[in-house]
Amino acid sequence: MQVPAPFEYARATSVRDVLELLERHGPESHVIAGGHSLLPMMKLRLARPEWLIDINDVVELRHIAEDGDVLRVGALARHADLLASEVVGRLFPLVHDAEKVIADPVVRNRGTIGGSLGQADPAEDLTTVCDVLRAQVVIAGPSGERVVDMADFHRGPYETACEQNELITEVRFPIRARSGSAYEKVERRVGDWAVGAAGAALQMADDGTIADAAIGLTALGLEGLATDAAAVLVGQRPSEGLVAEAGRLAAEASSPVEDQRGPVDYKRHLADELTRRVLRRALDRAGATAVQGG
Ligand SMILES: Cc1cc2nc3c(=O)[nH]c(=O)nc-3n(C[C@H](O)[C@H](O)[C@H](O)COP(=O)(O)OP(=O)(O)OC[C@H]3O[C@@H](n4cnc5c(N)ncnc54)[C@H](O)[C@@H]3O)c2cc1C
Repeated sequence: MQVPAPFEYARATSVRDVLELLERHGPESHVIAGGHSLLPMMKLRLARPEWLIDINDVVELRHIAEDGDVLRVGALARHADLLASEVVGRLFPLVHDAEKVIADPVVRNRGTIGGSLGQADPAEDLTTVCDVLRAQVVIAGPSGERVVDMADFHRGPYETACEQNELITEVRFPIRARSGSAYEKVERRVGDWAVGAAGAALQMADDGTIADAAIGLTALGLEGLATDAAAVLVGQRPSEGLVAEAGRLAAEASSPVEDQRGPVDYKRHLADELTRRVLRRALDRAGATAVQGG
């Protein structure tokens, strides 16, 4: 099926306008941002919205702004905006790691951070990025605004805490001193969805130990963070042995399924290997002294 079912279309110009249109047109109305996930689903008739509320003119959702100890990113910031942003790359290098391997320039020029999180595809890269950075999602609705931790935002594949009559307006990333982060993905060909990917964010303490760590996996059957893998790092001095143990625990926490992208044992191996790689790179970026053997 290549043609979407018939639908009505409205173009909103402000957050208030979006919420009014969603209210007016009821449960079968959905917002559309870049359209790179919703339109393919409509063509396959996996989604059949009666109304599309286009939010591309809602310019108040396009910001990327450092604001004290938080980076505020509007829901309509596109993949290409994130990749081009100096402040994003400086504060959160894993966002650039991920954005370089999300699809191709055509998709990156239209797809948005709000749409990526709103779609909640288990193979989508920005969810892991936002998970490990312990981001918060700002959601506007008929009764005002609420702020939801990433840990509570995703409710499972294609399900989020954002209700049909609500709108993701912003993603907030806490800025931490002496921190480092990295993301690495294995794909079958350039621009493809992940066979598997891992992301890590670390914060170092003054004494050279790891003060905080978060590890996430993409498309490898882990919901949320690999907490046991991160826990072995906290309070320790970086070492290759520690990194290897975290990789082993991340693989243990993964629950991949066999599909056209590969068998289970290969994907578990990716969980281990990619976790080690992103930890080494995140430690390096956090200014940790070179990872020692042992
Ligand atoms: C060929 C191709 C390859 C791709 N490869 C990758 C990849 O490797 N990695 C990856 O991560 N992604 C990939 N994508 C997906 C791409 O990143 C999409 O841009 C993204 O998933 C959705 O963003 P969007 O703005 O296009 O959302 P849309 O398609 O417009 O919307 C997606 C969903 O989110 C909802 N939504 C959108 N904005 C909001 C909002 N502000 N508040 C509440 N709900 C909202 C919509 O109602 C819809 O349900 C690929 C897409 C294509 C077409």
